[in-house]
Amino acid sequence: SNFHETGNEKIKIGIMGGTFDPIHYAHLATAEYIRETYNLDKILFIPNGNPPHKLRLITNKIDRYNMVLLATMNNDNFVVSDMEMNRESRTYTIDTLRELHKIYKNANIYFITGFDAICDMESWKNVSENFELATFIAANRPGVSSLEAKEKIEKLKTKYNANIRSVNVPSLDISSTYIREHIKDGKSIKYLIPENVETYIYEKNIYTNGDE
Ligand code: ATP
Ligand code: MG
Repeated sequence: SNFHETGNEKIKIGIMGGTFDPIHYAHLATAEYIRETYNLDKILFIPNGNPPHKLRLITNKIDRYNMVLLATMNNDNFVVSDMEMNRESRTYTIDTLRELHKIYKNANIYFITGFDAICDMESWKNVSENFELATFIAANRPGVSSLEAKEKIEKLKTKYNANIRSVNVPSLDISSTYIREHIKDGKSIKYLIPENVETYIYEKNIYTNGDE
């Protein structure tokens, strides 16, 4: 599924990138809050294919992509892209941003991250070009010091002439790590992820087969 711009007005596209192993309500609520706050036309969820930073064995990309599809299907403003999934090589955000600019020639791109991800950005490939190609919107996240993150954001702004906005989203202390561990321990994950994703996980035995 994809969408195309119409007319001459610049559309505003929010990008929500992640491993989504699995997607949870904090991803969804953060994206929706930012869409509304910044008047974005669409949020494009882009599950990564072969991320360079993850050290653990991650769930296969088809299942992660399917879970994102299920989680977003009832929001007309949420769209899922398979562009990173379909890349055979390692996936870097910089390649995605370049591709997005080719596809959406007349769009403003807003890349959404949590405070943990923005603080880690200097380890990304082609750091400064990432900042040239998108406005970054960084959201607070429980477990990450907002004070330290905001200091880091100020440094990034100065060093790279980066366009970064920090936004206070209603905090939800949920992580994919927490979900995976709870499923593995046979504990409830109700109300932390959408029900259809929960059903998918149990039907396909994801996170219970001990391969992590
Ligand atoms: P993991 O525990 O496996 O790292 P995660 O919950 O951090 O999973 P990711 O797929 O790594 O999820 O994150 C995708 C994006 O969503 C990142 O930019 C991350 O900072 C952001 N994000 C994840 N959880 C939250 C949260 N609870 N609040 C705000 N942002 C979040
Ligand atoms: Mg993470």
